[in-house]
Amino acid sequence: MDILITTTDSIEGATITRYIEVLRTSVVVGTDLALTDLFSGTNRKYSSQLNNSYDRAMVNLKMKGFAVGADAIVGLHTDFEEIFGKGKTKFVVSLVGTAVKLDCSRMPSLKTQTDTVSASTLRRQHLMLTLRKKMNDDNYALSVDDWDNILNYSLWDLAPFIYRRYLLLNKATVSNVPLQEKKLLLDNFIPFFKSMNYNDAADVIYGDVTTDPYGTADVVNKLQLFHPEKICSLLQPENKHLVIALLKADKPNYSLPDLQRMRQIVDYIDNLPDTGHYIEGKGTLFGKTGTLLVCERGHTSAVELGGHCTETLDRGLGICNLNVKGLTEAEIEVISMFKQKVDILSSLLEK
Ligand SMILES: [Zn+2]
Repeated sequence: MDILITTTDSIEGATITRYIEVLRTSVVVGTDLALTDLFSGTNRKYSSQLNNSYDRAMVNLKMKGFAVGADAIVGLHTDFEEIFGKGKTKFVVSLVGTAVKLDCSRMPSLKTQTDTVSASTLRRQHLMLTLRKKMNDDNYALSVDDWDNILNYSLWDLAPFIYRRYLLLNKATVSNVPLQEKKLLLDNFIPFFKSMNYNDAADVIYGDVTTDPYGTADVVNKLQLFHPEKICSLLQPENKHLVIALLKADKPNYSLPDLQRMRQIVDYIDNLPDTGHYIEGKGTLFGKTGTLLVCERGHTSAVELGGHCTETLDRGLGICNLNVKGLTEAEIEVISMFKQKVDILSSLLEK
């Protein structure tokens, strides 16, 4: 694929995923005319000499772009500088631009442009196919070199495999994993997914919420991948703990449709069915009359309305802590923070 060079800071239909570095190149044009003469077009010879120099500078810049693995160079600036010396005037044509990596998956015109393939594209594709094949074996352990390649070549197509491996290793029950592999995966997992764009990363992470719901929620929090639309597809009563765990994260930007979906989530939470119930206290049982909570685990405790079960669980698991809807105090705290967020967003988005 050719390197696209543009004076704009963004590229229609493509997402800039990484800024590599600022590239500059200069070409000297020897002449004895003034710059104004060149631009007025009065002297065709020097005008074409200048154009040739400009083309040469562009080729140089492209080559520098290839060398650093860029997909495009954005924000291109051209400078003409006049230098005097030894009785002659020279011009320096300088080009400055920022080399970037692109996600072109939504940019068909670039994707289909296959008249040339750069060596780095070829190498990337080769690495991806090789690694994908290896990772089809669930026991394949990614090496230091594999991780270098995955991060340097932005092998995002491997994201579902890497996520699957992460969930597997993250589970406390897996104990026979080599420490080296686990450490590499934990060190590189977050940087890898952070280098992806928000929607692509969310597609992968929310693509499997059943293998390890709390592992998924943890990843969503670490990557700040709150995704109202995807959470709205999970709004069944049996998913309540997962849904609430997903509400702690943020997303890069909030829109009105996001706010509407967040209200839908609040509505779902407010209408969660009771899993426990209240009974009238007998007066002597707990030394006071009034309402008793029978939680979904069948414990009876004397609490205020809306309170949480105070029964101690077996095997050192602490206090039961469920309220009449089967939610813990920590979960109620998350919900209340989320509702505040919705209120603030309302005031910011609907002024
Ligand atoms: Zn209980």
